[in-house]
Amino acid sequence: YRYPFTTCTNCGPRFTIIHALPYDRPNTSMKEFTMCELCREEYEDPTNRRFHAQPIACPACGPRVEFWDTAGTPLGFREEAIDRAVRVLRDGKILAVKGLGGFHLMVDARNQDAVLRLRERKHREEKPLALMMPTMESVTALCHVSPLEERLLHSPEAPIVLLLRKRRTGIEALREDIADAVAPENPYLGVMLPYTPLHHILAAAAGCPLVATSGNMTDEPICTDEREAVERLRGIADLFLVHDRPIVRYVDDSVVRVMMGRELVMRRARGYAPLPVSLSSRVSDAIAVGAHFKNTVAVSNGQNIFVSQHIGDLDTPQSLESFRSTLKDLRSLFDVHPARVIADMHPDYLSTQEAQASGLPVSTVQHHHAHVASCMAENQLEGTVLGVAWDGTGLGSDGTIWGGEFLRSTPFTYHRVASFRTFPLPGGEQAIKEPRRAALGMLFEMMGEAAFDDDMLLPVGAFTPAELVTLRQMLKKRINSPLTSSAGRIFDGVASIIGLRQRMSFEG
Ligand SMILES: [Zn+2]
Ligand SMILES: [Zn+2]
Repeated sequence: YRYPFTTCTNCGPRFTIIHALPYDRPNTSMKEFTMCELCREEYEDPTNRRFHAQPIACPACGPRVEFWDTAGTPLGFREEAIDRAVRVLRDGKILAVKGLGGFHLMVDARNQDAVLRLRERKHREEKPLALMMPTMESVTALCHVSPLEERLLHSPEAPIVLLLRKRRTGIEALREDIADAVAPENPYLGVMLPYTPLHHILAAAAGCPLVATSGNMTDEPICTDEREAVERLRGIADLFLVHDRPIVRYVDDSVVRVMMGRELVMRRARGYAPLPVSLSSRVSDAIAVGAHFKNTVAVSNGQNIFVSQHIGDLDTPQSLESFRSTLKDLRSLFDVHPARVIADMHPDYLSTQEAQASGLPVSTVQHHHAHVASCMAENQLEGTVLGVAWDGTGLGSDGTIWGGEFLRSTPFTYHRVASFRTFPLPGGEQAIKEPRRAALGMLFEMMGEAAFDDDMLLPVGAFTPAELVTLRQMLKKRINSPLTSSAGRIFDGVASIIGLRQRMSFEG
């Protein structure tokens, strides 16, 4: 009872502990733990629910938890480790917890000071933090939950589900609630239920909503190894709850939301990756390296396309490293011998450059055609479709930045039948973080230089006079002001014009 590594054949770790296929214990990170007599009996008994449960373990023979300080010195073991970890959370301290696919950073979600300290140390300004709630009742007390959302929360995949917060009024608003710093000014909360025995024990003992955000510095991959975690997270976490079952590969929590009555996966990772997309016919072995932002990679084998877990933006040496290791990992796991590499046609993407350096023949694909074709594969559509790709940005075949495209497509060809009217983006990439730049570009496209003379326009008022002089020259002379038809930038521009937001630090 209360052993944090109990599993059966229907639940428990798989992708995060497997070194090679087939899925047998000697091929997993459980090979280091020799089964005791009692575990072996269950494992070999066809009538037992743990018959051939590869990660079977018990307190006598399996992994154990430890409680560490920031020097990596053990301060407690097993039950005592968990008790001390719970006290850390109650005291408003930051706890790093080794879980299934990596580390979480956890704090009491009701404690505003603790949440602010976590944000400051993790360098995460405003982007909402995910919550792990102790029970479904505690979720429904806080958020509107539809039957489908409830099913997703309870599913074996146990993703983070984006839920609409309930508005509290009157005396209810005074009740002990989630700290404002968890999701500032955001009508949604990202919520999950405990999904491993360790999380269940921890959440039940803490008895309160916990912030459970990935254990990393913003923009870096999540930590998996406890020694590495102590190095990388000691500036963030006050204490560590770790265990000795190795994590073979990092996998983030998945994020889903329900839209128009359907599950929409926004970050495909734990529980979903690397489940394949199946095609109606075989394709030759190939690897696909993905785009620059929110990167994932994929490999094909026969009729299956295996899509990796979410890797992230390829902006840091660490994320490039995990891009490389994930690709290598998928190739060996699914025994793929690629004849070619498929890359985005944008030559500056690190993923494209990696493809060029691979030594294999490279085929390039237009960003939005790739969106449409993958949507076709996922929904098993064949023939010709009208694909509508509304996106942030991707390089178009005419050299402008696309992102609001209507493409008549087959899996292999496309024709751009319509798109939004283009406008310049002063500062190029910088405009992604500054909606006021997209707005200024739109206004310039419609009004010409007259836009600069109307300081009642909120985007114009959002710049200093000196900045406006520079921007005016940039737009007039088309310096570093690429043309775009991106729907994402149109939404940004409108948000700026109506005074909603002039700059932003995250997407979502
Ligand atoms: Zn089970
Ligand atoms: Zn045992």
